[in-house]
Amino acid sequence: MAAGIPNPEVKYTQLFINNEFVNAESGKTFPTLNPATGEQICQVQEADKMDVDKAVKAAKEAFKLGSPWRTMDASERGHLLYKLADLMERDREYLASLETLDNGKPFSDAYTIDLDLSIKCIRYYAGYADKNHGKTIPLDGKYLCYTRHEPVGVCGQIIPWNFPLLMQAWKLGPALAMGNCVVMKLAEQTPLTGLYVCSLIKEAGFPAGVVNVLAGFGPTAGAAISEHMDIDKVAFTGSTEVGHIIQQAAGRTNLKKVTLELGGKSPLIVLDDADLDTAVEMAHFALFFNQGQCCCAGSRLMVQEGIYDKFVEKAAARAKDRKVGNPFDKVEQGPQVDEEQFNKVLGYIKSGIDEGANLRAGGAKWGDKGFFVQPTVFSDVTDDMKICREEIFGPVQVIQKFSTVEEVIERANKNNYGLAAAVFTNNLNNATYLSNSLRAGTVWVNCYDALHSQAPFGGYKMSGIGRELGEYGLEAYTEVKTVTIAITEKNS
Ligand code: NAD
Ligand code: MG
Repeated sequence: MAAGIPNPEVKYTQLFINNEFVNAESGKTFPTLNPATGEQICQVQEADKMDVDKAVKAAKEAFKLGSPWRTMDASERGHLLYKLADLMERDREYLASLETLDNGKPFSDAYTIDLDLSIKCIRYYAGYADKNHGKTIPLDGKYLCYTRHEPVGVCGQIIPWNFPLLMQAWKLGPALAMGNCVVMKLAEQTPLTGLYVCSLIKEAGFPAGVVNVLAGFGPTAGAAISEHMDIDKVAFTGSTEVGHIIQQAAGRTNLKKVTLELGGKSPLIVLDDADLDTAVEMAHFALFFNQGQCCCAGSRLMVQEGIYDKFVEKAAARAKDRKVGNPFDKVEQGPQVDEEQFNKVLGYIKSGIDEGANLRAGGAKWGDKGFFVQPTVFSDVTDDMKICREEIFGPVQVIQKFSTVEEVIERANKNNYGLAAAVFTNNLNNATYLSNSLRAGTVWVNCYDALHSQAPFGGYKMSGIGRELGEYGLEAYTEVKTVTIAITEKNS
């Protein structure tokens, strides 16, 4: 692994519209901070409605019939995506360093996980560019009927700050493979890597207007995307609260297609017969990875009564052992992304204490600068406590006790979320029975966060609409056209 560049030079802070870096129409800028110190890294151009309009216009132009993008061979679209992945690989150390600076995640994670998965995702969808095709269908009567898989059009994409590069790749990969044009809004906390990738998009040779990327805030630039009459589809990853707003905006305006990847409160269930040490370590990873800022974090840890006491003791010891510090050093945990998230997490810790949960590790901020939170563990958490019901999005492990399999299924499914779930057991029957019974888009058995480009990911219930990744991930970016041609017996 590369060493990391602690002070990577920031090269792009402007909006990327029609293959050019440009200032915002308003001339306004906003700061992005280094969460490890709380200090400003630089100012970034702040997009608003007028910039969204400009970007949509460019995307619409690029999507016109007869344009270079619309007339390009599908295999060539795939080739451009392969080139983009190669350029990300070339600049991998720089990109990972910039991600660490802007987001606070440990450089080792950014380099080995975020960059690895982002590059693989782009390559995965590059391969699909000329392989997502329609069918011929035998109709009754004398017809030739076939389907064409066509792009949806101009796609708005609004992404969060927890995995800036990876969320960008998850959204760009399938959209571009299918021949769509994109207007993306980066998260205001972490705009830097997404803007750098724009320079690589241009270098790879994508035609102007195919990808437009804006930095800016949700209620302004984000709202302008979700309300835009010329955007055909919007894809969003973030909070359930904003998911509601986006769905409503689409409903009020042009009924654009909406896919949502929202929050979770994913149960991680450990049965008495599980391998104890493996389960403790995987449950630790499931929650604390990425400072606990994962939509699919294993944030309701449910342990069977036979091993509960031993499990809690080991889980608390592992959390106390977790190495926190400067994300450019050899650490497991960096700061939360910003002061708002930091305060929110500390608020949840306070509510856990106030509501009578048993604090076994951590429980306070870490260090004297930046937005660090101690790895925190609560045991004896009951279903009614706020820390058990709501998404904390921070390094706070919530442990509960249960007795029977039927009981744990009932309790695990009681939440409004349904993004992921996990089961740790050596009993095949229980593994299968639980996997079938849990209402979640992904169930992991004896593993966690096994996220791969090939496997679909998305939520049941209020965790979202639609799927990303895998073959299913193409559906959100594909319109199916049915063509039916009458066949006459004889040509005269
Ligand atoms: P958020 O949902 O507000 O932000 C996500 C994205 O949506 C950002 O790009 C933001 O600018 C944009 N956005 C915000 N308001 C918008 C609006 N009205 N219209 C259009 N776009 C809008 O998330 P947050 O405030 O950064 O974090 C709050 C909570 O959301 C977190 O504590 C966590 O629980 C959850 N979250 C989930 C994910 C996930 O991966 N599912 C990611 C980030 C945050
Ligand atoms: Mg930042």
